[in-house]
Amino acid sequence: MNVVSARWSANGNGIGQVDLTNPANSNFGSNVFDANAQRQMLPKAVYRALEATIERSEPLDPALADAVALGMKDWALSKGATHFTHWFQPLTGSTAEKHDSFYGPVGDGTALAEFSGKELIQGEPDASSFPTGGVRATFEARGYTAWDPTSPAFIIENPNGSYLSIPTAFASWTGEALDKKIPLLRSMEALSKAAIRALGIMGDPTDRVFTTIGPEQEYFLIDKHYFYQRPDLIATGRTLYGAKPAKGQELDDHYFGYIAERVLAYMLDLERELGKLGVPIKTRHNEVAPGQYEVAPVFENSNLGTDHQQLCMQMMQSVARRYDLVCLLHEKPFAGVNGSGKHNNWSMATSDGENLLEPGETPHENMKFLFFCSAVIRAVNIHQGLLRASVASSGQDHRLGANEAPPAIMSIFLGAELEGVFEGIAAGKPLSSGGGGLLGLGTPVLPDLPMHGGDRNRTSPFAFTGNKFEFRALGSSDTPSFPNTVLNTIVAESIDSLAEDLESKVRGGAEIEEAVREVIKSTYEQNSQIVFGGDNYAAEWEEEAARRGLLNLKTTPDALPELISEQTVAAFSNYGVLSERELESRHEVRAEQYVIKVNTEAETAANIARTMILPATVRHLNELKGAGQADLIEESSALLDTLTERIKILEEVNAVHDDGDIVTEATYMRDKVLPAMESVREVADRLERIVADDLWPLPKYQEMLLIR
Ligand code: ADP
Ligand code: MG
Repeated sequence: MNVVSARWSANGNGIGQVDLTNPANSNFGSNVFDANAQRQMLPKAVYRALEATIERSEPLDPALADAVALGMKDWALSKGATHFTHWFQPLTGSTAEKHDSFYGPVGDGTALAEFSGKELIQGEPDASSFPTGGVRATFEARGYTAWDPTSPAFIIENPNGSYLSIPTAFASWTGEALDKKIPLLRSMEALSKAAIRALGIMGDPTDRVFTTIGPEQEYFLIDKHYFYQRPDLIATGRTLYGAKPAKGQELDDHYFGYIAERVLAYMLDLERELGKLGVPIKTRHNEVAPGQYEVAPVFENSNLGTDHQQLCMQMMQSVARRYDLVCLLHEKPFAGVNGSGKHNNWSMATSDGENLLEPGETPHENMKFLFFCSAVIRAVNIHQGLLRASVASSGQDHRLGANEAPPAIMSIFLGAELEGVFEGIAAGKPLSSGGGGLLGLGTPVLPDLPMHGGDRNRTSPFAFTGNKFEFRALGSSDTPSFPNTVLNTIVAESIDSLAEDLESKVRGGAEIEEAVREVIKSTYEQNSQIVFGGDNYAAEWEEEAARRGLLNLKTTPDALPELISEQTVAAFSNYGVLSERELESRHEVRAEQYVIKVNTEAETAANIARTMILPATVRHLNELKGAGQADLIEESSALLDTLTERIKILEEVNAVHDDGDIVTEATYMRDKVLPAMESVREVADRLERIVADDLWPLPKYQEMLLIR
């Protein structure tokens, strides 16, 4: 079969491949200004220079920007685009764009399409309303967007027109990152440098290393008519009320089941749309909960993969409307039913496409593999709190640790085989598994690794899955940018630390294999507490983890301080990924978002209770009174009293606002507001079971989850 090397991986080091002979892929990348389009639209010299920038991160000569802009504009016009936008990722976690027309008046009453290099390279959105966590006061509203040539521009189509979208970074004039892309790019650079250094010591002349991600995205689909009748879903993305349905997920009949026709039609349309944008979707299936599904792309380098993940989430929601569906990306849209996560598959690869976490065929390859694996183990152990904080949000607090998602305790699953190898090295055992693992002068130093990647542990937050690590604790609505920024940075730090050790041993005259083995041994010995192969959902693990001294940061307010801990600040400033001020701003924005989200939920919950559930209960009660049903009247009337009482408490606690310290406020939200909401819900859900169905004002779980 003629498999054409994929165009979208222009800077993805050629790892991913899409079969362009498959008719389903014939439009693949058609709306992307990718290498093919660039080659067609740009003068040769300009194309070459751009290619060098993309593939080797060489700075682009600003003088060439006009030529690139011209080619890009002509290409966009040929695709029917009339406008362009700088597309960026502010700290809100979503994306932002402001459209400008290509057309400008030329004086004689006509208009001409123009787009200069300056407009391509830099934009200045009126950005005063984006959260910056204090980095930039609102009176100094100017921030600017800067073109990221390593993520290709693309066309977004609408039934009534199209526009060119240019991936950009967003920074303040003082050079501070106001977005999620800049730190991600910096972290990729940091990791590349560290990995090149380590590879160099091991005799590998690689000149560039990329981190790669393949995020598996979970989501729910519900009929849009139900959505419109749920003010809670509209305002907060999750149901604040709803009794558990008679038929839940107990039967496990949904997982990997037959995909309903409307849902499959949606998926195929989504994949076609994403294909045009160069997002290579690979997998689709039903998930565990009824109404829940998963979509996963082929992995790409972290920057492109993150941009594509944003596009994916955007398209998932807009295409759903075409099928009268609504796509829910919230981490916990339905209580008592599995929530949604995002499994962040992660690895490192050289520019030649060698996956550094692929156990190799030869002992030499395995030496590299074990070295990088040890660096990851060390990084996750040392920065376990930061990793936990990187995925913290109000939505996640309903999911992590809820016996469906990994717990809030970070640990690593290596699989029995690999764990055995590390244990063996730590114990100084001679290793010769498979018989071929002899290195050096007949000394069994490093083992052969017949890895099957077959053993799986679905409960682990951070699992080795054959040739990559899978960070499973991300929330479904989160962009992967920050968790990957953290991962790249902390692994870079560990690689450097190991490399330093290795260097001094080699300088001291040690054989490289022997030196690597010693480094692996001591790294594993010092960090093996983070390795856990058992059931992460079991209550005993919580106790065991406490004995091991592992962190158990259960909620967002518990986890957020890790973003500004001394250790985090040191690592991030060492590698120039985020300064202390930039970290503080992220800490503040996250805490603020937590407070705003819980506050919105509480207001919505009180409102629904007072204006929908309470009146329905009163009507129900009146009907019972008309029928003279004493027992039933007593039951409903008691619940009505409780409901009224609890609504008042909720309104009270949510009205009290300590506008002081944002962290204190977040803690207050967690300790006072959330429990008050929960207690209103508890009685409302009991009422749902007894109030006449035709009086109940909200669509029920049964309807939302089971009707496809
Ligand atoms: P699983 O059995 O865990 O679903 P898959 O092979 O289907 O394994 O991979 C799931 C995701 O992991 C996909 O998005 C895939 O592209 C991604 N993935 C595979 N290899 C890598 C890698 N080296 N780096 C990053 N992501 C990867
Ligand atoms: Mg997987």
